[in-house]
Amino acid sequence: MRNLLLASAALLVVYAFRRAGEQGVEPGAPTLPTAHFTLEELTTTGSGLRNVPTSAQKANLALMATHVLEPLRAQFGPLRVTSGFRSPAVNSAAGGSSTSAHMDGRAADLYSMAGKSAATMAAWLYGQPLLPLRQIIVENHTGHLHVEMQPPGQSFKRQFLSTDDGRSYQNWSLANV
Ligand SMILES: [Zn+2]
Repeated sequence: MRNLLLASAALLVVYAFRRAGEQGVEPGAPTLPTAHFTLEELTTTGSGLRNVPTSAQKANLALMATHVLEPLRAQFGPLRVTSGFRSPAVNSAAGGSSTSAHMDGRAADLYSMAGKSAATMAAWLYGQPLLPLRQIIVENHTGHLHVEMQPPGQSFKRQFLSTDDGRSYQNWSLANV
């Protein structure tokens, strides 16, 4: 019975998220700033390069802040986002993958200002099936957590990986905590 209830709740959340995606930037869709995240913070770059999202990319940033970053912040306290949206030029300068979700405004690299490890935050996300996660990467070489939102309208992929060098990636599980 409990599993049935959980499954029903998950379907409802997926449905609501799909609706949000279909609405795009229509009234009622999330906007920035949210309670704890601003557009400035999610478009910051140390590269000095132009880094201005389109309205569609901004809508993704707002969805990610609302459905992924705020729940994570509610659990672990203040987070510092070191890289959110990246224009193609900023992404190249950062050495990002040519298909990086950062360029869609669907990914953020962050760390806990309260000193929680990336693995601790990944472990919590692992136990949250209702969050629209596509990919989580525990970056052992930098201490950052890469969080990536599933595009609206798609079922949640929820792939958990870790890396020690930013080049090769392994599957990550709770056994790594
Ligand atoms: Zn990243």
